Amino acid sequence: MYDVIIAGGGPAGSIAAKRAAKNGLSVLVLEKEAYPRDKTCGGGVSQKALDVIGGIDKGLIEREIFGARIFLPDYQNFTGRIGSRVAVTTMRRNLDHWLINRAEDSGAMVHDNEPVKDIKFSKDCVEVATPKDRYQSRMIVGSDGVNSTVARKSGIRTRWGSNIGLCLETEVELGETLVEECVETDIGEFYFRGPWSYGWVFPKRDRLSIGIGGPIPQMHKPMDIFMSFVGDVSLQKKIDLEERITRINSHLIPLGGVSRRIHGERVILAGDAAGFVDPFLGEGLYYAVKSGEIAADVAALAVENDDFSKKFLAGYAARCENAFGSDLKSARRFAKFAYGNLNLFLNILRGDQRLFLEYLKVMRGDRSYAGFNRWCAMRSPVTFLKLVSG
Ligand SMILES: Cc1cc2nc3c(=O)[nH]c(=O)nc-3n(C[C@H](O)[C@H](O)[C@H](O)COP(=O)(O)OP(=O)(O)OC[C@H]3O[C@@H](n4cnc5c(N)ncnc54)[C@H](O)[C@@H]3O)c2cc1C
Repeated sequence: MYDVIIAGGGPAGSIAAKRAAKNGLSVLVLEKEAYPRDKTCGGGVSQKALDVIGGIDKGLIEREIFGARIFLPDYQNFTGRIGSRVAVTTMRRNLDHWLINRAEDSGAMVHDNEPVKDIKFSKDCVEVATPKDRYQSRMIVGSDGVNSTVARKSGIRTRWGSNIGLCLETEVELGETLVEECVETDIGEFYFRGPWSYGWVFPKRDRLSIGIGGPIPQMHKPMDIFMSFVGDVSLQKKIDLEERITRINSHLIPLGGVSRRIHGERVILAGDAAGFVDPFLGEGLYYAVKSGEIAADVAALAVENDDFSKKFLAGYAARCENAFGSDLKSARRFAKFAYGNLNLFLNILRGDQRLFLEYLKVMRGDRSYAGFNRWCAMRSPVTFLKLVSG
């Protein structure tokens, strides 16, 4: 019998596995895909996520990002940069493979190409069935992403409800020289065009990640929206990106900052499975790795106390709330203000470079959303009132 089975070996699962193994637990990771596997994602890893991971190999870094260029609906644009690194861009295929190898090196057992199909919860253990075998553990961590089987089988969540978004993304290979001609390689580009949330162009070494995302009700005919966005970016960059697209991926993304149940008897959810994503920017990697870390620590405490009750595991939810949950709620208020008053928001951002640079510090992790909202209050009480009233 394992101490803990971790379903899903993405960033949340890998960090949880590494830390749980280091905490002395016997750990089995069950991952649906065979590594290395792709994950639809912009691949932007914020500095605060890198800090939790403890840094990554230099070879995994595609580009270092120090700022952002914001595009208005009419494509007028403005740029902000700060002196310290805000994020790096990566290829998720490589990053996730590296993270899971690190977990394995720390002592976790990893079975890839082995999806969790069924879970039985009993008084004494959890029994997990895959197409290959059955395994028992004292508890299970569901880090199996937005379509979490663990959330469903444990009865924690059967469907998402309204707080769910859809993203479409493509990687356009251009070669290093053309990438450097097309974009400034030390910033990310964010296109706010409404009514869907935003589009992005992130520089990688020899390609661009181009994507759009927004809450599902606003993503009518997503492929049309996406192709129109790519067409506009092509005009902007004076290069035919459409003809270079080989594949378009789509993926659901939960929108965080709402209270959700994330634990039960012998089970906790982490990362996307728990709905931990910034509802303004769609950043999920920081919350995935941070919740993975907390999951491992609470699992170690549960083993130590031989207590896997729902009541004991409520400590996990409390720790997540403390670490980032209330801040995700501030992010939600910020998103509501920004997307609900898009022109006003963009005009404020364009006219107030200092405010823009302070926001970059939120992206980097030097400032919380709550702290940023407070800072806005002191700078502009009217803006703040709109912000907190949503
Ligand atoms: C288009 C798009 C762009 C994004 N861009 C960014 C970005 O630039 N920066 C950022 O911070 N965030 C971004 N995000 C969000 C980010 O991708 C996620 O928040 C992050 O991947 C969550 O990590 P996770 O480990 O919780 O889940 P995942 O990365 O989804 O990993 C879940 C793992 O579980 C496995 N799995 C699923 N079902 C089973 C099963 N039944 N049994 C076993 N294994 C299973 C999957 O194969 C996968 O390996 C983006 C999301 C989308 C959709």
